[in-house]
Amino acid sequence: MADLQTEIARRLTEVRQRLAEAAAGAGRQPGDVRLLAVSKTFSLEHIRAAAAAGQADFGENRVQEALQKVDGSPDLKIRWHLIGTLQSNKARKAAATFSAIHSIDSLKLLEQIDTAAAEAQTTPELLVQVDLAGEATKHGIHAAGAMEIVRAGTRCRAARVVGLMTIPPHFDHPEHARPYFARLRDLRDTLLKEGLEPGLLRELSMGMSHDFDIAVQEGATIVRLGTAIFGDRHV
Ligand SMILES: *Cc1c(COP(=O)(O)O)cnc(C)c1O
Repeated sequence: MADLQTEIARRLTEVRQRLAEAAAGAGRQPGDVRLLAVSKTFSLEHIRAAAAAGQADFGENRVQEALQKVDGSPDLKIRWHLIGTLQSNKARKAAATFSAIHSIDSLKLLEQIDTAAAEAQTTPELLVQVDLAGEATKHGIHAAGAMEIVRAGTRCRAARVVGLMTIPPHFDHPEHARPYFARLRDLRDTLLKEGLEPGLLRELSMGMSHDFDIAVQEGATIVRLGTAIFGDRHV
């Protein structure tokens, strides 16, 4: 496992450097952007290696897979994020397990998570996933619907709405994702102008391994990186 440890530590160092450069280039502080290590399909050994190299936030896209990893790492101080679709019947488990859920795409789901969080006495951070591409196959709510969900965040008792998330369509050329990142930031700014509380709109979760530099230039506060840290997924 020494090799894995060394390799992941090296990749993390490289990613942190690229993040710092992108932030500096955009006149931002490196500390303004949180690095989320997307560990879906990777083993607990990979997660332990990254944690040993100082990584604290990990993202998973399936509740069941995440729960196994959470159960297997009680000794690690990890903040687990859910970045994949959440079905209602898993809302209770999700509310009890995750520090943050990036895939809130309906009022109903927001209310279910909040109720479950109140019962579990947790205070998960919630991000509203916005579908900016208008692709029927993609998850997420359209921009107008996002406003309604963020606004409803003021009524939450336990969970806290903290921002917006998006996944642009895949482009071979990362520069083509820029308009989507800019649109998520514009949506955030529009909602602020509408008078929504800044605390509900603190985070912009956008940017993945092949385009995170651009997302940071456009205002990302959380970037979600899998392959850049752990290598190619083979599943
Ligand atoms: C898998 C995944 C990522 C990470 O993708 P990479 O290209 O490996 O960086 C980020 N966000 C979401 C929602 C994902 O499902």
